[in-house]
Amino acid sequence: MLPNRGRNSRDSRNSRDGRDDREGRTARTSGHGTAGRAFLLLGRAAGVRTAWTPVGDGEFFCPGCGGDRNYQRLMGRCRFTVVGVPLVPRGETGPVVECAACRRRYGTDALDHPTTTRFAAMLRDAVHTVALAVLAACTPCAPSALTTAACAVRSAGFDDCTEDQLDALVEALAADTGRVFGEPCGAGLAIELHEALDPLAPHLAPAGRETILLQGARIALADGPYTPAEREVLATVGAALTIDADEVARLLRAAARTPS
Ligand SMILES: [Zn+2]
Repeated sequence: MLPNRGRNSRDSRNSRDGRDDREGRTARTSGHGTAGRAFLLLGRAAGVRTAWTPVGDGEFFCPGCGGDRNYQRLMGRCRFTVVGVPLVPRGETGPVVECAACRRRYGTDALDHPTTTRFAAMLRDAVHTVALAVLAACTPCAPSALTTAACAVRSAGFDDCTEDQLDALVEALAADTGRVFGEPCGAGLAIELHEALDPLAPHLAPAGRETILLQGARIALADGPYTPAEREVLATVGAALTIDADEVARLLRAAARTPS
């Protein structure tokens, strides 16, 4: 009795379930097909379109192209459209910048990255400023220090820089007591270094930041061990380049042990 009832029950349930399942599946498939096709058609016919309007232009470093390119700054007006016909305004979007070469669009933070040309100029100015600051810390400049400094500055891009030019600049800056040389290594010099290095530091890899510091160290070491004034200048250089103070000390010790 129990097995029969169980079998019947199971058979009955199977039968009922099977029927229901088939009916349910049929109904759902039918419903899904109709709704799906309708949804697909609507999806193809409707959407949000954005009309872009140029509001400015310039040159930037395109992360897509990997080089300096012209860009347009664009503002967009969004509209809900059906079959290409704009129906409902959906507000504004942007601004964005569009690369004139690859047509890719980016947020305006892409403009924070300097162009290759601008970056090279920043690097050149940074090395020049560090060289002058270190030379100024050991005035009168020793010929060996001037030679090392001129070599570093030429390597950075000032191809025609000479020892005499640097010497004249250091003397001129020393006379400008109100700005850089109010104190041997005072606030004026720190401001000069920060103005040159702060904008550059975020765009340099750690090795690049260390290279600038070590160029200054080699100029300081060219005429003998670091003087207190040179150490102070180099500490300021390291801070402006966002190098940790302990790391600055380690790099300066390593430079002093390494013959130039
Ligand atoms: Zn591009």
